[in-house]
Amino acid sequence: MVHPDPQSDDQRSRSVIVGIDLGTTNSLVAIADEKGPRVLAASDDAALLPSAVRYEGPVAAPRTVVGTDAKDRAVEFPHTTITSIKRLMGRSLADSTADLVYLPYTVIEGDHATARVAVPLEGGVRVVSPQEVSAAILAALKARAESVLGVPVNKAVVTVPAYFDDAQRQATRDAGHLAGLDIVRIVNEPTAAALAYGIGLDRDAKRNRKDESIVAVFDLGGGTFDLSILRLTPAASAAETSFFQVLATSGDTRLGGDDIDHALVALFTRELRERGWLRADTDPAPAVRRALKQFAEEVKHRLSDADDARIRIDVGDGTESRVYERTITRAELESISLPLVERTADACDRALRDAARELGASSVDEAKRAIDAVVLVGGSTRMPLVRRRVAEFFGVEPYTALDPDLVVALGAAVQASLLSGASTGSLLLDVVPLSLGIETVGGAVAKLIIRNAPVPARATEMFSTSVDGQTSIKLAVYQGEREMAADCRMLGEFHLRNLPPMPAGIPQVEVEFLVDANGVLRVSAAERRTGKHAAIQVVPNHGLTRDEVDRMERDSFTHARTDMTRHRIVDLIVNGRMDLKWIGDRLTKLGPKLEPAYRAELESLASSLRSMIDAAEHDWTSASPDAIHQAKDALDKASVRLQEISITESLRSEPGAPKV
Ligand code: ADP
Ligand code: MG
Repeated sequence: MVHPDPQSDDQRSRSVIVGIDLGTTNSLVAIADEKGPRVLAASDDAALLPSAVRYEGPVAAPRTVVGTDAKDRAVEFPHTTITSIKRLMGRSLADSTADLVYLPYTVIEGDHATARVAVPLEGGVRVVSPQEVSAAILAALKARAESVLGVPVNKAVVTVPAYFDDAQRQATRDAGHLAGLDIVRIVNEPTAAALAYGIGLDRDAKRNRKDESIVAVFDLGGGTFDLSILRLTPAASAAETSFFQVLATSGDTRLGGDDIDHALVALFTRELRERGWLRADTDPAPAVRRALKQFAEEVKHRLSDADDARIRIDVGDGTESRVYERTITRAELESISLPLVERTADACDRALRDAARELGASSVDEAKRAIDAVVLVGGSTRMPLVRRRVAEFFGVEPYTALDPDLVVALGAAVQASLLSGASTGSLLLDVVPLSLGIETVGGAVAKLIIRNAPVPARATEMFSTSVDGQTSIKLAVYQGEREMAADCRMLGEFHLRNLPPMPAGIPQVEVEFLVDANGVLRVSAAERRTGKHAAIQVVPNHGLTRDEVDRMERDSFTHARTDMTRHRIVDLIVNGRMDLKWIGDRLTKLGPKLEPAYRAELESLASSLRSMIDAAEHDWTSASPDAIHQAKDALDKASVRLQEISITESLRSEPGAPKV
């Protein structure tokens, strides 16, 4: 009789890192080992775990049902079955309002304005966080992997959409933690899809015709559509690393296979009403709705392979037989689906426009021609109509060799094996979705990291104070493309305290922004003379939806000119006031020592700058930044001698640095 060797088991388990696709509709777990990447499933047909969790039992100790059973009975238990939880991950209730109308369960506001789900159970209502719901899904995948592999699984690479922000990534990480999984790396879904096809793993770079390749990843899932454009810089030798960079993302958070199911259900319902089998003024009973939805999805799946499919639904009430029978052709399905599929083209255009900027292409068409490969992801890309439309749009045959449902999980597994040391040679590079910066005096934002910068990203900038004797400096961290803090989103704030009182402009505060490979932001500030420092990891309570990212970006273009003007005026006001104060102080002190004519010149220049600044502060829209700049410049030039005369000339070490 042999005993399992605990030592070797332990060693094996330590090296196991699984790859997980935590999807809106379906989730999967995969592994890549010496046998190659493969999805882990109890049986062949159960690779996909529906991302549905039902709570039941007493409120104090509820049980969860995860997967197919929860999905199939969602219509029966609309208030206790949680689906599409990914939409709420890391977001505030306010951010989620657009989604709420589609979610049958009750979403409420928790701490820090976060979205929570209120689940009615025996004896009361239980409030669960999106992280807990996702953790139930992750725990089911972990258990599945452990049962297939026969070893404990504690580490995972998990994928998220490329547009997920800090908060959404952090929430995903927290969900892993709750499920007993250490998420060793968060990878963008499109990057994982490219990896699954071995794009970027090509060791023999000499075989590559060019230095870099551009990959478009078209992901049409159950409820969301994402298009991402990646740049791959392949490794020049086996010792080096390949780089993936997300150049642009776009999509539609309300477009997917579910919409096609709903369109089919609407067709069935209409026909049942025409036959008088359904009342026109009420919704069908839950059991009928559930049946219709399941039939719709099944028919849709069959029509991806066959030219027609028969449906037969018994809607009888027990007294008379009512059998709804019908043949539906692929052409019929395609005409229903066409308007939905057409909507993907708009998002593709938008992403290409963004990517064109990155690629130095002058038009969308030129950017299109730069694309070397198109990868299909998501169950809905099985539809021949979708494949045709993609091929037509990009002018290339898309990659379809891998199952589009599995491709993200397989890529996550490939990345996991790279991280576990099982294979080497690829480093993933993703981008910061929105610019990050610090609020400066006057309400402008000094951007340290610009949108689309590849991660990991690091930037530092020097700041100083604007008021004498400041012993504490507030640092407010903002995300967004606009120039003024009020138009951006605050991610967090912290204070650099216990500074000895110093004159304005003397402290030298170095602020550092660091976005790690997972997109999590850390901000630190250190005052150079005193060595005082403070830092925050932005542990954001809520994130942005992609719609908001898109809107903020659009806004930034729309408002670019006025924003820039306003930022410039604010900076001129702040710096001008500091000049005036400095000159005023010197004049009081040194006045008697100055020639009267020089003194009069300074006073008149100062007074004209002051009145311009006062007017600009009152109404910035009618101020002329050029005129203020000129007045400030004239005063600065004239005050050079005053500086020479001044015995405290060292007091202004960095006249131009923005002040926090
Ligand atoms: P998500 O990324 O949102 O979790 P998936 O990639 O798993 O979603 O895609 C799920 C969607 O794919 C569902 O709407 C499902 O009906 C659809 N789908 C799966 N297989 C097929 C098929 N053979 N033909 C058409 N649609 C399919
Ligand atoms: Mg997906």
